[in-house]
Amino acid sequence: MAKRDYYDVLGVAKGASADEIKKGYRTKAKELHPDRNKDNPDAESKFKEANEAYEVLKDADKKAAYDRYGHAAFEGGMGGGGGRPGGGFGGGQGDFSSAFSDVFDDLFGNFAGGGQRGGGNRASRGSDLRYNLRISLEDAYGGLQKTINVPTSISCESCSGSGAEGGSEPASCPTCSGMGKVRAQQGFFTVERTCPTCSGLGQIIKNPCKTCQGAGRVEKDRALAVNIPAGVETGTRIRLAGEGEAGMRGGPSGDLYIFIEVSEHELFQRDGANLFCRVPVSMAKAALGGSIEVPTIDGGRGRVQIPSGSQSGRQMRLRGKGMPALRGSGSGDMFIELAVETPVNLTARQKELLAEFDDLSENNNPESSSFFSSVKSFWDGMKG
Ligand SMILES: [Zn+2]
Ligand SMILES: [Zn+2]
Repeated sequence: MAKRDYYDVLGVAKGASADEIKKGYRTKAKELHPDRNKDNPDAESKFKEANEAYEVLKDADKKAAYDRYGHAAFEGGMGGGGGRPGGGFGGGQGDFSSAFSDVFDDLFGNFAGGGQRGGGNRASRGSDLRYNLRISLEDAYGGLQKTINVPTSISCESCSGSGAEGGSEPASCPTCSGMGKVRAQQGFFTVERTCPTCSGLGQIIKNPCKTCQGAGRVEKDRALAVNIPAGVETGTRIRLAGEGEAGMRGGPSGDLYIFIEVSEHELFQRDGANLFCRVPVSMAKAALGGSIEVPTIDGGRGRVQIPSGSQSGRQMRLRGKGMPALRGSGSGDMFIELAVETPVNLTARQKELLAEFDDLSENNNPESSSFFSSVKSFWDGMKG
């Protein structure tokens, strides 16, 4: 398959500045992130393609080489650029997560990254995992307990996480002398890469554990019961310390972050702890006054007294009928906004009654009267 132009991949013009390239990459990374594209099989490969393009264009030397020689600058010797291992979120695999980490920090705040890398660290911390959870407004109101299946890797039981079979010890990697990185000559350039022998760990295991092939951890789906407190909103992040991916070779586990998204509701709009509900009332009821029944988020009913002569847009408050506060105590309020409805499909008799009513109307429309008197003085002013 022919490789696409790196500038095209990032959606920027040739000769774009470092800032533009970074911006282009962030946009693509957000758009194509595998977490947001579960139903789009193309997204993952495009995401990797964007990472690869950014790896080159963010680096002044590599960019210069690319501008001069195109993809040919990186071919030969190392078996082509593309094939990175792994994929999915939080793989903690060398280039993949390092290319993504600065964007990642931007998106999710000060997030602990993968693990320590390179430098021959024996053990490394497991990656943090993100889990997106969409819940209804009713569930956000009441809170809920939810069991989620977290795809993660756990410490291998056969080798107690060491990666070595039968208690043997790992040895320093001969390819990179324990540095985790190798340098390679490509055309006129020297390029530093993650060591292909030890995947950047700096150590190899001569006699790898048969269960985990030396990784010290195995993939597994884990059911986790999570308490979602009442009052959460879109963007609320719940951290479960130590529930992320297991560390490499006995390192500590990462954390699991649950990102909440609260769905839109058919009846209620939310603003912080307050709820808003637009309620239609008939023209006659708005004029005469009366009481109406309104729904509340707890599934109950509330009664609201409409004063006679209420106009469209009038708001009434039901204290304490909003959302519970996530921290602290108390609840927000619910606001009812009246929408006065003009009747349609009138019968002949109804038309007759309304026409008669209109004939009898004199001081019943103060807003109209004041509007037309302003209009009159406006026109008078134009003449003078
Ligand atoms: Zn190595
Ligand atoms: Zn093992």
